[in-house]
Parts: sequence; structure tokens; C-alpha cells
Amino acid sequence: MSRRILLIDDDRLQHRLLQAHFQTFKTGLYTLDGAATYEDGLAKLRSGAYAACLLDYQLGERDGLQLIRDAVAAGCRTPIIFLTAETADDIDLAAMNAGALDYLVKGEITPRMVERSLRYALKLADTLEALRRLATHDELTGLLNRRELDRVLAEECERDLRFGHEFALIMLDVDHFKAVNDRHGHPAGDAVLREVARRIGAQVRTVDRVARFGGEEFAIVVTESNAATALEIATRICAMVAREPVVLPSGEKLPVTISAGVAALPRDSRTDGALIAAADKALYAAKQRGRNRAVDFTAL
Ligand code: GH3
Ligand code: MG
Ligand code: MG
Repeated sequence: MSRRILLIDDDRLQHRLLQAHFQTFKTGLYTLDGAATYEDGLAKLRSGAYAACLLDYQLGERDGLQLIRDAVAAGCRTPIIFLTAETADDIDLAAMNAGALDYLVKGEITPRMVERSLRYALKLADTLEALRRLATHDELTGLLNRRELDRVLAEECERDLRFGHEFALIMLDVDHFKAVNDRHGHPAGDAVLREVARRIGAQVRTVDRVARFGGEEFAIVVTESNAATALEIATRICAMVAREPVVLPSGEKLPVTISAGVAALPRDSRTDGALIAAADKALYAAKQRGRNRAVDFTAL
């Protein structure tokens, strides 16, 4: 399948030149598309339709470096190769610092150089994506890891306090999980964690907000929701986990339940740390009241 490459350059000659280079590549490897303005370039880049982007350092009055920063700030992960006219190191370096993966010096570009640079940038982007996933996700369950949860929570707190939005945090913990390990072994415990994580993920709008908090504890950031909605979600999750036993690798069926605690911002706290503490207290109360249930912090 041909990979779409975007050229953002206001110079039509440059586009024809690169088009000619592309003709020398193996047929169908890449197709070249163009954007002649900053706005069009940024919009096309953000569409996510391109495997890589070649970007001119100067776009009319606008600066290619700024376009890289805007694209990166918008969450764009398309690999960008910067086209610079000067051999001045500082522009190349500035482009790399802004988020470009490679650069080519205009006027010195050969077909082989373009092909090498594209291949290199595509490979590097894949590697970076894999590393990013490793750094933000929990290996056992595939959910977000604790570090990423902390980042998401801090961001959510700041934004929602500023705009006066509400959001809720659900903390969940597997009931009597130590006994699962003790009776069935650690691998069986792992299988239970994976299945519980899957059931939790299936009950929420986006798994981007479900994390493994640590051990057998999970957390869900419920955006733009109050505690009442979050309590409903938490109650439903507890019921879905308890509904059917988990099938262990041995084939044995094991009934599993979880408990949940709910807290909301700004109702119960104004910081991420205090919100976790409040949800944790509610979770502890759920355990005290017999497990397999969800408790709201205000009901303590
Ligand atoms: P409670 O109902 O009060 O939550 O009791 P519990 O037994 O679930 O709680 P406790 O905190 O005593 O035990 C948690 C256990 O989870 C202890 C630990 O060995 C186990 N554990 C933590 N991480 C993992 C993991 O990654 N895999 C497995 N198999 N076990 C884990
Ligand atoms: Mg625990
Ligand atoms: Mg537990």
C-alpha cells in the first residue's frame, strides 16, 4: 500500500522538484501530496492521513518551526522532516528541538537522500511510538500506568478548576485478591487482573482514562461527570465483574468481586492528591461495608 507523504511548501518549484524525485522511487511506495499555506498544512497534518511530512522552514510570512510546535501541541505524531535553506546548525537544531525527526538542506537534496530520510523518519517514529506506549501503559493489563494516570489527573484538575467543570475519580480494588494468589498461584492472579481490567474497560466510554493504579487496584477518570454519574458507573462495573466467574488458565472458574470508591472535583477536593485520598477513603468504606459495592465519599 502506498504511503501518503505531505509536502508543506509555498514554493511550487520545490513541489515539482520533489515530485520528480518521488518518480524515481519504487512505484507505489509513496504518494506526494501538497499544502501551500501554513493553515492548510497544519490542517492536513492534523488530519492524521499522512505517514510523514516534509516541511519548509519558511511559509510566506510564517515560520515552519512554529508549525511543528503547533502540530506537536495538538497531539500530532506524524514524523516531520524539516527542509532548510541554510546550512546553519542552529536552524536544524531548532527544528529537531521543536519535534522534527530529520532535516534536509534545500538545493542539496537528491532522490536517494529523500528516500533515506523518509525511511529513517518512519522507522524512528514507529520506535518512538512503541517507547511511548511502554512508558504510559501497564504491561500486564494494557491500561494506563500510574505515571500516566498522575499526568492525566493533574491536567484534568487544572483544566476543570479553571473552566468550572466537574469530574470524578473512581478507585477500584479486587476483593480478597491475596487469597487468589495463595490458593491458585501468581499466574492465576495475573489472569484475574487481566480479565478484571478488560471488564472495567468494557464499561467506560474510553479506555484512555482507565489505569492500573498499582497491584490489584485500578482507577478511572470520569471526565465531565459528577459523583452521582460516577457512582452509577462504579456500581455497574462491580456488578459486571461479579456477574460471571473468571476462567483461570487451568480452566477452573473463580468468582471474583471488586469494591469501588468515588470522589469528585471540586465537590470533595481541589487537588489531584486529595481527590485520590478521598476516593481511597470511600473505597475503604466499601470494603468495611461488605465488599462487592461502590461507595460515594459524601456517604461516609
Ligand atoms: P481486600 O479485599 O481487603 O482488598 O484484600 P486483598 O487480599 O485483595 O488485599 P491485599 O492488599 O492484602 O492483597 C493484595 C495482593 O495483591 C497482594 C499482592 O501479592 C497481590 N498482587 C499485587 N500485584 C500483583 C500482580 O501484579 N500479580 C499478582 N498475581 N498479584 C499481585
Ligand atoms: Mg489493594
Ligand atoms: Mg484487594
